[in-house]
Amino acid sequence: MSEALERWKERERRLMCRTYSRYPLGIVRGRGSRLWDVDGKEYVDLLSGIAVIALGHSHEEIAEVMARQSRKLIHVSNLFYQEEQLDYAEKLLGTSHAGKVFFCNSGAESNEAAIKLARRFQRVVRGRDAWEVVTLENCFHGRTLATLAATGKHTEGFEPETPGFRRVPWGDLDALEKALTPATAAVLVEAVQGEGGIFPLSQDYADGLSALCRERGVLLMCDEVQAGMGRSGAWWSFQHFGLKPDVFTSAKSMANGLPLGAMMATDEAAEGFDYGSHATTFGGGALVTAVALKVLEIIERDRLVQRAAEVGDRARARFRALAERLPGAITDVRGLGLLIGVQLAMPQEKARQAWGMLLEKGFILNLTYGSTLRLLPPLNISEGDLEDFTDALEDVLKKLS
Ligand SMILES: *Cc1c(COP(=O)(O)O)cnc(C)c1O
Repeated sequence: MSEALERWKERERRLMCRTYSRYPLGIVRGRGSRLWDVDGKEYVDLLSGIAVIALGHSHEEIAEVMARQSRKLIHVSNLFYQEEQLDYAEKLLGTSHAGKVFFCNSGAESNEAAIKLARRFQRVVRGRDAWEVVTLENCFHGRTLATLAATGKHTEGFEPETPGFRRVPWGDLDALEKALTPATAAVLVEAVQGEGGIFPLSQDYADGLSALCRERGVLLMCDEVQAGMGRSGAWWSFQHFGLKPDVFTSAKSMANGLPLGAMMATDEAAEGFDYGSHATTFGGGALVTAVALKVLEIIERDRLVQRAAEVGDRARARFRALAERLPGAITDVRGLGLLIGVQLAMPQEKARQAWGMLLEKGFILNLTYGSTLRLLPPLNISEGDLEDFTDALEDVLKKLS
């Protein structure tokens, strides 16, 4: 490790709360799908800041909007009307069946808003004292106290767990049906689990889930924080399954790196909030929504949703061909669009070694769900980069076998 990075490591130990076990990498600069570390080494970024930098780093048009808007208006709070926010809301709502949006600053906050809306909707609109939210095992919904309880992981030492959540096994409709009670306000699911290993729901499960929710008067809520905004090859990953959730949430890639989250709801479900019900100081300010509008316009103009579907399919086909060339090296290739999981047939320790060798070769991605390599590249990544990565992976798997 270089001297420069050693110095950063020492400062971070001294200054920062011990929450992140970081990669052995200090990043100083990014451009497109490339990152450069503190020693000047170049990397292909297949992680996009965890699905955030959908248009790549240092995008010229984004930089321009950011600079222009920052000289006009950055923030005034939600006490005021702002045209930037309205323009973005209108454009964003045009991507789905939802009728209303609430802006916030992160994925966890967007899910908090969804959970609050579900409880208040049931009580105030439906007159039902229903507060419980059912989630699926291996989900990830965030790290605030409520979303942690929804997730059911990373809870140690933070007890007591926030009440009002119940988890059921993934993909098991009977278990879901049994878990729905008169106290159930909503079911919250990822149509493709991200942190949980890139598992898309089955069509049967999606159909059953939707029918059960309607039958029982339970809100169907989808967490699109990672899979949404075109990454899955549809604007929203629930659209692959024909779902029409009452509520859904977004965040990661909305503003290409600026913090923005959103909770969207049908006009009916949105009746759960009234003036004063919920609020945030920063959410959806003029700067971030001006940037987010530009992001959405570029995704549309450059047909990046369609491209994510096509490029993702071809990438998965390449990984499947690799799995055939190297029998016993890859157990599964999963995902939708440019949300890709390649499950290696090796224990986690060895998978970590493979990850380290890929990093050494200049490819940044991450490991999730034990030994699954997760790719969340920019939506405009070149196919050449993905081909080069496949070659690098082949080389690494051969060396490790
Ligand atoms: C990342 C993520 C979250 C949490 O988002 P934060 O911005 O980190 O709070 C919630 N749900 C899903 C599916 C995510 O991938």
